Amino acid sequence: MSEILTQMAASLASGETKVIDLTHTLDPDFPVIILPPEFGQCARFRMEEVSAYDHRGPAWKWHNLTLNEHTGTHFDAPIHWISGRDVPNGAVDEIDVKNFIGPVVVIDCSEGSAKDPDFVLTAEIILEWEKEHGPVPADSWVLMRTDWSKRKGIDYLNMAEDGPHSPGPMPDAIELLLERGIRGFGTETVGTDAGQGTHFSPPYPAHFLLHGAGKFGLQCLCNLDLLPPTGAILLATPLKIKGGTGSPLRVLALIPGEGA
Ligand code: MN
Repeated sequence: MSEILTQMAASLASGETKVIDLTHTLDPDFPVIILPPEFGQCARFRMEEVSAYDHRGPAWKWHNLTLNEHTGTHFDAPIHWISGRDVPNGAVDEIDVKNFIGPVVVIDCSEGSAKDPDFVLTAEIILEWEKEHGPVPADSWVLMRTDWSKRKGIDYLNMAEDGPHSPGPMPDAIELLLERGIRGFGTETVGTDAGQGTHFSPPYPAHFLLHGAGKFGLQCLCNLDLLPPTGAILLATPLKIKGGTGSPLRVLALIPGEGA
């Protein structure tokens, strides 16, 4: 028997390792991305009661669900973007499952994002972060903390006449993270890109560059303020949807707890 796994079970049982939920509740009221009207739109979460211990099913209760692959806290697979359409094993059912558990680092952009909804994560900010915490580890998830998940209602999408205003990464930040060989990039906002990311070059740099390189995305995360900058483990296991471009999922982090 593996000593590491035995120790891990003991450490989870004792609270030495804590489990943090980074997931919003799937709720019909949770906002989904809104695209310009000429494009197809993302469906919200819907739950239809099939029976509730009644004549439709006397001893059981259950629901039919309707939703987009990109509704709520969700995972983006490489084939979500045109740049990743030919990435081998780029759909959620094809990705090697070892990618669903791994190290995670958090870059705190909450202060800047509180002052400026169009705050951008730059390569310079990442290099500053590395001076304090060491290089962004290869094959790790990198999460951009903005505290955006604490926004409610219309403040979450923050739509204006010229589209949404929310923080996200600049192309040079994503390029640097790709140089570091990261596994994926995650945000608290409705997408991995800034609200105004359509005006960047390339447009939507997180989607375009990450997925083109076979990397993954996570968005609509919460509780990033509870994670340490380094040293946590992320569990992000999308549903095994055949040919799926993404999937809602439960995202968990393992962090050092009391007495660790
Ligand atoms: Mn998505």
